[in-house]
Amino acid sequence: MMDMPYDLIILGGGPASLTAAIYAGRAALRTLVLGSAMLGGQIATTNLVENYPGFPGGVNGFELSNAFLQQAKEFGAEILSATASRVDFSDRPFVVETHDQMYRARAVIVATGAFPRKLGIPGEKEFFGRGVSTCATCDGFFYKEKVTAVIGGGDSAIDEGLFLTKFAREVIVIHRRDELRASKQLQERAFANPKMRFVWDSVAEEIVGDSAVKGVRVRNVKSGETRSVEADGVFIYVGLIPATKIFREQIEMDENGYILTDDHQRTNVPGVFAAGDVQNPDFRQVVVAAGSGAMAAIEAERYLSTQPDFRGKV
Ligand code: NAP
Repeated sequence: MMDMPYDLIILGGGPASLTAAIYAGRAALRTLVLGSAMLGGQIATTNLVENYPGFPGGVNGFELSNAFLQQAKEFGAEILSATASRVDFSDRPFVVETHDQMYRARAVIVATGAFPRKLGIPGEKEFFGRGVSTCATCDGFFYKEKVTAVIGGGDSAIDEGLFLTKFAREVIVIHRRDELRASKQLQERAFANPKMRFVWDSVAEEIVGDSAVKGVRVRNVKSGETRSVEADGVFIYVGLIPATKIFREQIEMDENGYILTDDHQRTNVPGVFAAGDVQNPDFRQVVVAAGSGAMAAIEAERYLSTQPDFRGKV
């Protein structure tokens, strides 16, 4: 006999997912979270979160995500470190498969987030994990008194670049334009930091090295000139890609692969909701992800309460 379907399966392990799990648990929904191999989401690898309300002075990202996790567990959510590899939203109950299990649910919240974009240049893949990284919080420690390059000009590049100055003797930001995208506040801190240096109007063409990374070959987009920027480590922050591959053909998305929802987190499939970075590229803030996760869970509960076979209804 097949197991009873869950009331709700939540896909993803970041703030949107875990907040949804807190709300779903409190609403007494039988809830499963498939939180991917690394529970916690992007915030778990962030050093200091200064703008999450309730934490004057800031909070460590790992500690914050761990608190979300514990709170979701307190309310009874079943949480697995597993990744969905296939979904079928064409029939009810919905089907979610991992590499070795199949689960069924009456409602689903997709909160799979986004992952770092790669440049696709020679050397990036070869040196990844041994000189090339997308996480200064994880790897910055290895660059004590060394030179690091940071590629990108957004909040992530500057925030993580500033973090690297705690260890590195120099942090060289390589940006394709002559002004940063990062917030004014971060820009001011970066320009005032004596360890930060900027290579403007330049794109990275190759990460060079032998047994270790030696630097980045860059091309100035205005002059066409190519030169090498010496560095012992390269940190890449050129934006994010939504983790929505398995939902293609199942849910409506925009041209960049972000899931489309209405203002109640509903997708075009009744009973399937989306929350967090996977459906909103504009904010990417923990508080926004958490808020949308709460909304998705409340809407999921409302949707379930209208279903004839829910909680003994006929
Ligand atoms: P982002 O804002 O999309 O910035 C990506 C950066 O990479 C941009 O400067 C972009 O250049 C550059 N870029 C993109 N593709 C490139 C390529 N192929 N080659 C070279 N450069 C390339 O991404 P993000 O910095 O990861 O931030 C994502 C979101 O998270 C934002 O909403 C941000 O506000 C938020 N965030 C906030 C904080 C914070 O509040 N402390 C920290 C981290 C992230 P252009 O500028 O020329 O487009």
